[in-house]
Amino acid sequence: MSTLGKQKILKQINRKHILNMLREHDKISIAELSKNASLSKPTIMKIMKYYIDKGFVVIAGKGSSTEEGGKKPNIFKFNANGGYSVGMVITANKLKAAITNLKCEIIDSCNVDLSPNEDVDSVVDKIARLFNKLLEKTRINSSKIIGMAIGIYGLTDFDNGIVFYSPHYSSWGKNIKMREKIQKKIPENIPVILDNISRFHVFAEKTLGAAKNISNIVSLIAGYGLGSGVIIENDIKRGFHKIMGEVGHMVINPSEEIVCACGSRGCFEVMVSVGRLKKIISDNKNKFPDSIIFNISSNGNLEDLTPEEIFEAYKGNDKLAVFAMNDIINWLAIGIANIILIYDPQVIVIHGIYTRAGENFLRQLKKKVNQISLTSVKKDTKIKFSELGEMSGVLGAAAYVVNNFFK
Ligand SMILES: [Zn+2]
Repeated sequence: MSTLGKQKILKQINRKHILNMLREHDKISIAELSKNASLSKPTIMKIMKYYIDKGFVVIAGKGSSTEEGGKKPNIFKFNANGGYSVGMVITANKLKAAITNLKCEIIDSCNVDLSPNEDVDSVVDKIARLFNKLLEKTRINSSKIIGMAIGIYGLTDFDNGIVFYSPHYSSWGKNIKMREKIQKKIPENIPVILDNISRFHVFAEKTLGAAKNISNIVSLIAGYGLGSGVIIENDIKRGFHKIMGEVGHMVINPSEEIVCACGSRGCFEVMVSVGRLKKIISDNKNKFPDSIIFNISSNGNLEDLTPEEIFEAYKGNDKLAVFAMNDIINWLAIGIANIILIYDPQVIVIHGIYTRAGENFLRQLKKKVNQISLTSVKKDTKIKFSELGEMSGVLGAAAYVVNNFFK
């Protein structure tokens, strides 16, 4: 590389370094920045001017000291509203979107319904429409958007922006150049990122949620399908074939009668699914004739039971509900014990429907994991429910863009 090239890169590194320092402090003076970064005050002044022009830094007032000839120095502040990030997720029936500032605070959000197996071009059109709607609602100029990330269920190639296959959208076919399709509808200066939704769930937990500032995390979403996101030593991991985290198809009970969508029997995803939870209730209804579950299902059709109704009965210690939920807890614990051995995380964060099953469910799950895990793992690996709720994927996507921007 030429000397000029090296100087240019060094300049960029210094700029990002200073900007990150500003992000970490509430307010800071040139003297402090100069001292912390070991750069001269004139260099810092130049960097400040560069970022003030870009809108990322503002003057927050004057300092109290009068170190230089009695003149009070300026105090600078990172401007969280100097840029914005857009996060979206494509679920089985909805497209959700949010716009956040550089502190990942949601400025506005909106969503639109997707029909079952909706055509890919129609979904891409809706992505562009929601993007424009967010800008209109917030009156934010597109030049202020630092990037957009979209999470999706299915096998996704992050590097090339390709969806290998999405189980909810089989009509799309295979190897869809999704990022390219989206990029064509979005201003070209705005970089688009595409990844499996679980990777944004785990990133949301690391930046804003139950695993904040933890280096090794696995997030797990179970109930309808099963996905997981993996962060090892602060980095999202994807694996050579980009399938890391597809633990839903780990076979944990080969003698199970239900066949998984993948063709195998006893996949982790099936063993802990809401469908199987209902089947256990139905198969064992005669053993628990007094169960309040029969009163809940008004038309006597147990298939119509909602997970929430089962969780209510479980919280009320209904014997049939406890029997069925303990079965799910057992298999969830086996899957988690395997995950602990594979990835050795510090925290496992659970997303999805089971986060509504109550604290006792979590307690019983931890107890079961402890029974079957290695001794050394018992005391250290934490299992938590996500507290980010419905917006977790969208927030994680937006936060990923922000993080990339400052890296
Ligand atoms: Zn499977």
